[in-house]
This record gives sequence, structure tokens and C-alpha cells, in this order.
Amino acid sequence: MSEAATDFAHDVDWAAFATALGDVPVLTEPPLVKQKSRDFYWYSPILKAQLRKKFADIVAVPRTEADVVKVAATCAQWRVPLTVRGAGTGNYGQAMPLFGGVILDMTALDRIKWLKDGVVAVEAGKKLIDLEGETRPQGWELRMYGSTRRTATIGGFIAGGSGGIGSIMYGVLADRGAINALRLVTCEEEPRIVELRGDEVMKASHAYGCNGIITELEIPLAPAWPWLDCIAVFDDFMASARFCQALGEGDGIVKREIAAVEWPLPQYFKPIRDVLPDGKHAVLLMIAAPSLDAYAALLAEHGGTEVYRKTEAEVEESGLPPIYEYTWNHTTLQVLKTDRTITYLQTLFAPGDNLEKVAHMREVFGEEVPLHLEFVRLHGRIGCFGLQIVRYTTPERLDEIIRYHDDNGCPVFNPHTYVLEDGGMKEIDYGQVDLKREADPHGLLNPGKMRGWEEAR
Ligand code: FAD
Repeated sequence: MSEAATDFAHDVDWAAFATALGDVPVLTEPPLVKQKSRDFYWYSPILKAQLRKKFADIVAVPRTEADVVKVAATCAQWRVPLTVRGAGTGNYGQAMPLFGGVILDMTALDRIKWLKDGVVAVEAGKKLIDLEGETRPQGWELRMYGSTRRTATIGGFIAGGSGGIGSIMYGVLADRGAINALRLVTCEEEPRIVELRGDEVMKASHAYGCNGIITELEIPLAPAWPWLDCIAVFDDFMASARFCQALGEGDGIVKREIAAVEWPLPQYFKPIRDVLPDGKHAVLLMIAAPSLDAYAALLAEHGGTEVYRKTEAEVEESGLPPIYEYTWNHTTLQVLKTDRTITYLQTLFAPGDNLEKVAHMREVFGEEVPLHLEFVRLHGRIGCFGLQIVRYTTPERLDEIIRYHDDNGCPVFNPHTYVLEDGGMKEIDYGQVDLKREADPHGLLNPGKMRGWEEAR
């Protein structure tokens, strides 16, 4: 994406711009602006090299939807790029401003509007942990959340995430019914409020904030369960994967998380290292208390040994991180804490022959790509995503590994690109591009990220 291809304002007087925003709070101190211009892009050695010099010019911190409208209108009038930010935990450089401009920090929009009959209407900047903190006492919890639950916002999860803890029961965010409605502010001289409902929500969910600023969401919830964090270990990795598959398919057992982690990766889980025996493969689990006996019986059948079990209260009391902070992209983070030379993949092992494909990749790549599998429900069947660790050597070798997976029926959602479509299904979603044409006619929202739009230009 060349800078010459854009028609953004140059030589903006940022002090005058801040004045034009009226009483909307702004941050202008360079260290703060730099800090709010970062996300977890550095997970990828490729993105690290591409994006490390990308910074915004100013941060706006709206308190209300009216503030969001003011910022969007001013950006449209001044032709200034606007990148929306939740907590900045995205790991594809999604929230990194490629062309400078404004970062719109949504974290002050954090009110629950209403909660009734298992549906919550909530402002986009609410943290996932705080949202559940308010719904669980009323008997409801999120159907799914990212392992960044303690920091990420609900708006950022819907705009940038895909699924996570809970996906083993409820599928992924892209499934019909996962989101009931979104309320958006457009980026025009006179911004409009647009409400998307039903299938229409897909136009703006997982769109990296390229085609509207989500201010409010209506999310269906699940009945809340008392959860236990459990870890089981196995001598044989494929035996652990077969147990995970059977547990996923065990409809009578209520669970929230099933991850299989190949040795030597468990040795990087510092806070719980003492319960993880050398050489053993670990299975990380969240099981509902009423299902413990059934889970234990299944585990015994598969030859696994439980080495850790804690209630939510015990986890809190112990000061240990919750089990979900070793799962999904947190597994990669735990390894990165010790070894900055590794990177990772995000691979689909679709239901059906998923375990055969896992075994094949294990044989082909061995210690170069240690396995980490997240089991999920996909269109009613159980498959798994591989968030494998890669012992990184060169960009060419990384490409080769990705290509081998792609060519052998295991598509990789490439985490080494900031381009929306290339990190996903590699297909342009014309519904998303059409919404951008209407909601962002000047192409100011998170520019450079949506290939369908850039190509249409
Ligand atoms: P940000 O990173 O700030 O933003 C993400 C994207 O959404 C950006 O493109 C931003 O512009 C856009 N955006 C943010 N808010 C809005 C809004 N209100 N309107 C429009 N666009 C908006 N992801 C998962 O799906 N599951 C996981 O389990 C998971 N685990 C992770 C673990 C780690 C350690 C890390 C680093 C990342 C993980 N991620 C995971 C990715 C990331 O945490 C999620 O996508 C997260 O929910 C993003 O929320 P955020 O508030 O940090 O959003």
C-alpha cells in the first residue's frame, strides 16, 4: 500500500485539530501517543519489521457516543485517518495506525445499557472481565471470550477477535447468532448512527474498525456455571489429542476450554511449572463442576493423569493466573516471555480427519513446529485450531511451512499480515466493502487494512 495512493491531509496543525474537537479529551504527549499506537504486532517477526515505525499523531478519548460523533466528523472534515482502539491486544497489527492521524481510545465507553432474558446491551469499551463481573451475579456469562479477558474490550473482541474460551460449546464469533446487533458511528462530515441486526452484523464484525466505529453491542449470553481449572498430563501427545476430541464430542460434559500442548511447551508455563512433569504433554481444561465425575471417568479411559484442579475462588486465592492465560494466544505469550526467537501459526484442522492431519504435520515438522491445539465446535462438529509455535529461522522458511499446511488441507489464517482478508479466509467480503463505501466514503477508518477497499480504489 503506497502512501501516494492516499488523499489524506498533510502538514496538519494538530493543536488546531485538538481545538476543533471541542471538549473531547485528547492525549498529545508523545510517549502516551506512541504507547497507544502499539498493539501485539511484535508477536510476528514480519510485522515487527514492517510496523515498528508506525505511530499516530494524537489520541482522542471519547466519553460518550456524542464525543465519538464529534471526532468522526472532525476527521472527515480534516481528511485525517482514524484508527479505533480497544485495549490494543490485537496481534496482527490491527490497531496500528499505518498513516498516522487519530487513535480513538474507546475504553471510557464502558457502561452496560441493559441486561435481560440472557441478552446484554453494552458499550464497546467495556472490558470482558468487567462485563462478566456484572452479568455473572445475575446468572449469565459470555458464551465465549478471548484469553485476553482481563484486558481486552468487548468492541475490540468483536472487531478483531474470532473466538476462544467457550468456543468448544458455542462455536465462533463468525457464527450466526453469536452477536445480535451492533450500533455504529460512520466517518462522514455529518456522521450517522447505523444499527445492524441479525446477519447484517457480519458486515462490521471482524472488520478491524475499517467500516464503522462500534459504540454499542447486543450480545446473547449463556447460563453461568461454576468452573474448575484442570490440567491433565499424558505420555503420548496423540493420546492427549484423542482425549480432547472425545471430551469435545462428549455432549453430556459441560466444558469451556480444551487445549492440548505438546512437550516441551509446558516447560515455559513458569507459574505452574512445578505441577507439570518433565516430558509430559499437557491438556488445559475448564470443566463445569457438575461434570467433574464424567470428565474424570473419560480421562481415566484415555490414560491421562490429572495434576491440577482449582475452583475459581482457589485460583483467586492462590494468586496464580487463571488457566485460560495459558491457552489460545497466551500459550505463545508464555513461550515468548522466555524465548523471543519463536513465532506461531493459526491453522484450521477441520472436523472429520482433524487428528490424522495433526499427526501428519507432527511427523513432517517435528520439533521445528511444536503443537498447541485448541478444540472448538465448528458447525456442530468438533475440530481444532493449531496455534503451533514455530522455531523461526527466516521469512522464506516460515512461508514454506505455511504453504505446506495450506496445500495439505490445513488452511493457515496467516498471523503475519495486517491485511484483514489475508489473515482470514483470503477472500474479499463485499458486504464489508459496501458498508465501508457508505460509512467511510473518504477511506479514513484504519486505512491500509482492508484489501477489498484498497483494490476498489
Ligand atoms: P484492539 O486490539 O484494540 O482492536 C482490535 C481491532 O478492533 C483493531 O482493528 C481495532 O481498530 C478494532 N476495534 C477496536 N474497538 C473497536 C470499536 N469499538 N469499533 C470498531 N473497531 C474497533 N483473540 C481471540 O479471538 N481469542 C483469543 O483467545 C485471543 N487471545 C489472545 C491472547 C494474547 C496474549 C494476545 C496478544 C491476543 C489474543 N487475541 C485473541 C487477540 C486479541 O486479544 C483479541 O482480538 C481482543 O479481543 C482484541 O480486543 P482489544 O480491546 O484489545 O482490541
